[in-house]
Amino acid sequence: MFNILVINSGSSSLKFQVIEIESGELLAKGLCERIGIDGAFTYENVRDGLDKDKKEVAIPDHRKAIELTIEALTDGSKGVLKSLSEINAVGHRVAHGGELFDGSVVVTEDVIKRLSTISDLAPLHNPANLAGVASCQELMPGVPNVLTFDTAFHQTMPPKAYMYAIPRKYYRDYKIRRYGFHGTSHHYVAQTIADHLNKKLESLKVIVCHLGNGASITAIRDGKSVDTSMGFTPAGGLIMGTRCGDVDPSVFNYIIKKEGISGEQADSIVNKESGVLALSGVSSDFRDLWEAKDKGNEDAAVALDAFIYKVAKTIGSYVAAMNGVDIICFTAGIGENDIRTRAEVLSYFGYLGITCDAERNNVRGELKEISTPDSKVRCFVVPTNEELMIAKDTYALVKK
Ligand code: ADP
Repeated sequence: MFNILVINSGSSSLKFQVIEIESGELLAKGLCERIGIDGAFTYENVRDGLDKDKKEVAIPDHRKAIELTIEALTDGSKGVLKSLSEINAVGHRVAHGGELFDGSVVVTEDVIKRLSTISDLAPLHNPANLAGVASCQELMPGVPNVLTFDTAFHQTMPPKAYMYAIPRKYYRDYKIRRYGFHGTSHHYVAQTIADHLNKKLESLKVIVCHLGNGASITAIRDGKSVDTSMGFTPAGGLIMGTRCGDVDPSVFNYIIKKEGISGEQADSIVNKESGVLALSGVSSDFRDLWEAKDKGNEDAAVALDAFIYKVAKTIGSYVAAMNGVDIICFTAGIGENDIRTRAEVLSYFGYLGITCDAERNNVRGELKEISTPDSKVRCFVVPTNEELMIAKDTYALVKK
């Protein structure tokens, strides 16, 4: 038995899972919400199939969130651990590793010191991640902590993919460049499909479409990320639920001047008020968008078309970037569940000999091939599992 607690802290939330890594079994999971606001705690003992518990409870900070997590995990009736000593390691998801980390690392004083130098790159998320680590060190002394970075997998991109054509001093002084995110998911999905096909990932050209509320696409060649659609922040690239993705960079200066708003307000528009939510005026959720479109809402139809068109154009550009593609994978909320979006994206690639099989594509949330047997490129749904990937990385680094 080797139990790993996986912690994914956001600015006001903390998700956790306990995974027994040698069997891969998920023992328990939960969520602390509205940290620093009021607080809600959800816990589920998955191992014994017990009902989910949700309670309102004050959660002033991340330390309290971790205390509640530990209490629930070791609770006499619903816990999955007899005592805290049954946690062998903790794996933390960290939003931004900048150029400092190209893989997961065991936490040391030096790692924390280096990570705090780049907090500006993810001002909402990295400090929350560090608060989670500090609380675990305090509450579980002696248990090793490992950091897994959303950006690390993309550190293999060449300069032609990550440099922005703006004055070089901004890269030199502020490290402004494309970093890319969802790296753990892209890597997990690519590795999972290679394993499924009994092939070496290094021998395949793979495009992974992580389409959730946040969405990004990655081109993977020789087992490495060679390009990805998100940029300096997760706002770049595709149209998303509420983020605008790539737009003419001068647009926001124009809006700032016209409306007399601040840069922060403009950034909030970019991240929270844009995307398919803005285009449709209906919702950021694709289930609502399809329903509205089917009832004749033209703005919802444009939002869906624009999203799908941007996904298809990005896939096309990565076929060019890799001089071909062997496999296209769909993952995350939309990628795993939205049958119509997948079919429409793939319909752009007739010229590549890609054909989506309507019957096979009628699938949600399970690993399945969705292209026809004669399709020139094999297309799959591959459910992502970032927590399992974090647990695997943690195990690889700390097992004796
Ligand atoms: P994130 O982790 O970025 O918050 P998820 O990967 O959980 O997002 O994806 C959530 C999104 O997935 C929802 O906003 C919705 O648009 C989409 N989604 C979930 N289930 C379905 C479904 N059955 N059909 C279509 N879209 C779905």
